[in-house]
Amino acid sequence: MGVTLDLSRAPAGPAPAPRPNITGMTRDELRAAIVTAGVAPPEKARMRASQVWRWVHHYGVTDFGAMTDVAKETRAALADAFSLARPEIVERQVSKDGTRKWLIRTAPGIEIETVYIPDVGRSGALCVSSQVGCTLNCTFCHTGTQALVRNLTAAEIVAQVQVARDDLGEWPSPKEDRRLSNIVFMGMGEPLYNLDNVAAAIDVIADNEGIAISRRRITVSTSGVVPELKGLGERTQAMLAISLHATNDALREELVPLNKKYPIAELMAGIRAYPGLSNAKRVTFEYVMLKGVNDTPAEAKALVKLLAGIPSKINLIPFNPWPGSNYECSDWPAIEAFAAVLNRAGYASPIRTPRGRDILAACGQLKSESEKVRASVRRKAAAS
Ligand code: SAH
Ligand code: SF4
Repeated sequence: MGVTLDLSRAPAGPAPAPRPNITGMTRDELRAAIVTAGVAPPEKARMRASQVWRWVHHYGVTDFGAMTDVAKETRAALADAFSLARPEIVERQVSKDGTRKWLIRTAPGIEIETVYIPDVGRSGALCVSSQVGCTLNCTFCHTGTQALVRNLTAAEIVAQVQVARDDLGEWPSPKEDRRLSNIVFMGMGEPLYNLDNVAAAIDVIADNEGIAISRRRITVSTSGVVPELKGLGERTQAMLAISLHATNDALREELVPLNKKYPIAELMAGIRAYPGLSNAKRVTFEYVMLKGVNDTPAEAKALVKLLAGIPSKINLIPFNPWPGSNYECSDWPAIEAFAAVLNRAGYASPIRTPRGRDILAACGQLKSESEKVRASVRRKAAAS
């Protein structure tokens, strides 16, 4: 009599580890992983990794079966060892002005907001998140009201670009006439508190045989984590943006509490030492316009003085209100008067046009949907 094996129930013990996703691996990591998984011997791994890399990052394929120049058995071995799955898109919104926002879920409780803004940068910029929530509590920022859930992995950062490219129909990587030309790390979170993963993601995004967005078109925005500035410049060669928002320590401490740790003088010294800083590679200073708080012409003059000698651009961001915020956006004449002072000092077109306001996609309004839902449930419970 034959023995029948009952396979209806999984054996007790830990669930098998999920197959690692190739999306967030750097070239070196992919090569090493291919060897470890036994997909190719070490002497062939470089070539194999290059082939796979091109399919994943230039053609955007999500199925190993599509890799037509890879032998069938190798494709099967790759599929056994790795995953190419995209994360789940929980919500997609398109603004009247063409701005697109995606809410992406990569794991239970890990929901990421990503925004595509047309006509920014060379042709269009993708605003990516580096963390879910943020440990810093800038008082005017919606993300700052949400506790840090965790740092995003390199794969989760690259996946935001892939999702946008899928939606914009930009595979294979176009050489010209791209809709997605620039990347800005201005979504949720403080990228310099997650530098390892941000740097790895930039290595993937900037690779010439893949997504190929040049490092000069990638901007990392920070609230001023001074000790990490040098590492950011050396490891990524990305463009730097600094969220300044005030020209004296007392006010900046109020708006950006991190200023207590790294006051303005230290921040300026760190910026002056940013690797690669030059007239061709300027720092962008972001300055949110808050009515009656930081928006007088005297403060504009103080800003000009503070930035003297630093190759810089200034971006005035009209404050984007969010439910429950305590600030108002400066009146338009106040913003123009502020900008006029900067213009006279040689800073061209410093006002950033607000985009995607109707879908709460503008700067500083991002907050994960699950958190918003939880908050609304709390409010309802409190009201009843
Ligand atoms: N944590 C980083 C990057 C994300 S915030 C940083 O602080 O730089 C991206 C930009 O949006 C920052 O300049 C931030 O100060 C600005 N910002 C935050 N909330 C805003 C709001 N409600 N309106 C306008 N800009 C805001
Ligand atoms: Fe964090 Fe930047 Fe928002 Fe400050 S402005 S709370 S650093 S995301």
